[in-house]
Amino acid sequence: MTTIKELTDYLETIAPPGYQEVYDNSGLVVGNHDAQLTGVIICLDSTEDVVREAIAKKCNLIIAHHPIIFNGLKKLNGKTYIEKTIILAIKNDIAIYAIHTNLDNVLENGVNQKIAEKLGLGNCRILLPKAETLMNLTFFVPINSGDDVVNALYAAGAGQIGNYKNCSFRTTGTGTFTPTGSANPTIGELNKVEQVEESRIELIFPEYLTPIILKELMAAHPYEEVSYFLQKLENIDNNVGAGLIGELPNPTASDFFLEQIKEKLNVECIRYTKLVKSAFTKVAVCGGAGSFLLKQAIANGADIFISADFKYHEFFDANDKITIADIGHFESEQHTIKLLFDIINKKFSNFAVHLTQVVTNPVKYL
Ligand SMILES: [Zn+2]
Repeated sequence: MTTIKELTDYLETIAPPGYQEVYDNSGLVVGNHDAQLTGVIICLDSTEDVVREAIAKKCNLIIAHHPIIFNGLKKLNGKTYIEKTIILAIKNDIAIYAIHTNLDNVLENGVNQKIAEKLGLGNCRILLPKAETLMNLTFFVPINSGDDVVNALYAAGAGQIGNYKNCSFRTTGTGTFTPTGSANPTIGELNKVEQVEESRIELIFPEYLTPIILKELMAAHPYEEVSYFLQKLENIDNNVGAGLIGELPNPTASDFFLEQIKEKLNVECIRYTKLVKSAFTKVAVCGGAGSFLLKQAIANGADIFISADFKYHEFFDANDKITIADIGHFESEQHTIKLLFDIINKKFSNFAVHLTQVVTNPVKYL
């Protein structure tokens, strides 16, 4: 059997909660994470109908892209769709888990990578990489123990820079100390100055891993007292951030590409601005509300920006420099359901995983 926590812990290795935006509320919104999983329903929006579907299919976990609770609840008396959904879920012991902007903000296995894959984009990178998500760890260790400690830290997720892993830097020097009081030194004797040839080793890691990295450092390091320091870095992390930009394998006639968007992304209606080029090569995408990324899309030389939730006046900001294609919020994110389905099915096989059959898009087209 698998617990809800075992599944969500796995999802959080792919989309760490620390990567969600400050306004977000990803994570276990309703339920008990120690419960044994009976089955999973995946959806974009958890609604009463999705909870009913979970009951009918004997699933006790709903994984939704959008958190059902964003801004807190002051009453729970069933007056809004949010309250009704939560009451129904709690009454039926159904947990609701949200994986939202943390899944938007990762490059690998993220919402936008799935859109890019559908469109056949290559050379994909984050459109607006996040800064200040990385830490630097510096520590001092006897030369002979350096590899053991570093390897333990690599295994815990440190030392990854872009496509390079096992990245670190070390210098050697002489460490000094005098064990005192009740110290039980690995090297040296009480009340005697000791000099040891040590390595000073530095490596970076994502900030959200800090507790794990420190735990591994303490466990693998031979000293009773480990000398180390942590620094928060201002660096950007090119694997984390909003939106994505990629390239089509060949320049594609712009009007034909719009037709392809409709077909490949299963979109009924596109609201778009002037086709600024006869053929498109560079394509920027952002699932969901992405108008805040228009400047970055233009600055990065995108021919077209595919996203959703543009307001009327924001379409003017295309300014003949780019074509905006607003494909609808639900439509731009609908493939996230299959993305999550594949991620879960690759790892787990002892519970049923269902794509919701409920169309939760509140918007209809005539
Ligand atoms: Zn969304």
